[in-house]
Amino acid sequence: MESLNPNISLLSTRPAVMTVDLGRLARNLGRIQTHVRKNGSATKVMAVVKANAYGHGLEKCALHLEASGVDFLGCAYVEEGIILRRAGVKIPILIFGGILADQARLYIEHDLDITASSVSKLDHIEATAAAMGRRARVHLKIDTGMERLGVHHDTSDALLERTLSLKWTDVTGIFSHFARSDEADFSFTELQLERFLECARFFERHALPMPLRHIANSAAILRSAATHLDMVRPGISLYGVHPAPGVEDPLGLEPVLSLKTKVVYFKVVKAGNGVSYGHLWKPEHDTRVVTLPVGYGDGYPRALSNKAEVLIRGRRVPVVGAICMDQLMVDIGAGEAYNGDEAVLIGTQVAEDGTSETILVEELAARAGTIAYEILVGLNARIPRKYLGG
Ligand SMILES: *Cc1c(COP(=O)(O)O)cnc(C)c1O
Repeated sequence: MESLNPNISLLSTRPAVMTVDLGRLARNLGRIQTHVRKNGSATKVMAVVKANAYGHGLEKCALHLEASGVDFLGCAYVEEGIILRRAGVKIPILIFGGILADQARLYIEHDLDITASSVSKLDHIEATAAAMGRRARVHLKIDTGMERLGVHHDTSDALLERTLSLKWTDVTGIFSHFARSDEADFSFTELQLERFLECARFFERHALPMPLRHIANSAAILRSAATHLDMVRPGISLYGVHPAPGVEDPLGLEPVLSLKTKVVYFKVVKAGNGVSYGHLWKPEHDTRVVTLPVGYGDGYPRALSNKAEVLIRGRRVPVVGAICMDQLMVDIGAGEAYNGDEAVLIGTQVAEDGTSETILVEELAARAGTIAYEILVGLNARIPRKYLGG
């Protein structure tokens, strides 16, 4: 007798799927590489894959980016870096986050580049490396106006000078992070860049090799070549999503992710009957309502209740009533839809007449009153991922 194969994930049977197009991811990387090397420079690219690669899947995306020729990977937490090493990633990985004393050993064991954000942390890294008899690699973190991690730019000398006496620690990089590079007014970003470059001149003054200087996130990469320096750190732009509504994309980046599901129920709702929890929506006329099996439990934000649109048969139709944990309702009016029909929550759908409609993550973010980053990373592990072109 045959038994059920326990290796078949039940998740894969779910009629909701996020498709991640790795071909597009690699093409976006290529566009960014070409853009930052336009003037013949050898600017490196660090692909930022923190938070499950912005919801797209940490290991799959990282391995594909590595195979596509990215120089570095960037993560937030040491745990993310360890997952990548276990998955077989060989290229350098920088962990942006703050390091606690007892974590130094973990970083060094897994060959992860460490953010050194104070003299005492650097001391501890050096001591741990010496005790282990293994070299550590650090990137110095300079705070040029974010007030998060790092030594203030105007009091960075102690950290910079400490690097002169390191025996077990290599200074691979020096970096900072922009607070306002997505805003129309670029003046604070320019000030941050100036402060950062002044700190990095320390190495010139001591006739030492310059570590990799990096400061540019997606918005800065797209807006200002002066910020590119020795390496850039694209996150959201790699995934084909705009950092903010006002930031133009001269590169033609393509969205990597789409989210689709299927109609699981059809009913006629009589005029005046409230739909979903709290009856936040009541039709004025009798109408047709379909149910989709995706909700805020998957990371489709409840803030989109009565606000989002989805695509059915290539047309935009409104989400009505409160979005539930596992389901949401859509008013198709006089339109037709059958059980099993495809519904697109993010991405493109073609209608029978050949026209098409697209719903972008950026649109959902605007409608939910948040940023595209939060929509992306909110899409959680309950949604099965399907990878194209891997
Ligand atoms: C998240 C992050 C980035 C990437 O930012 P995007 O706006 O997504 O390009 C770059 N650098 C650091 C330190 C980050 O934390």
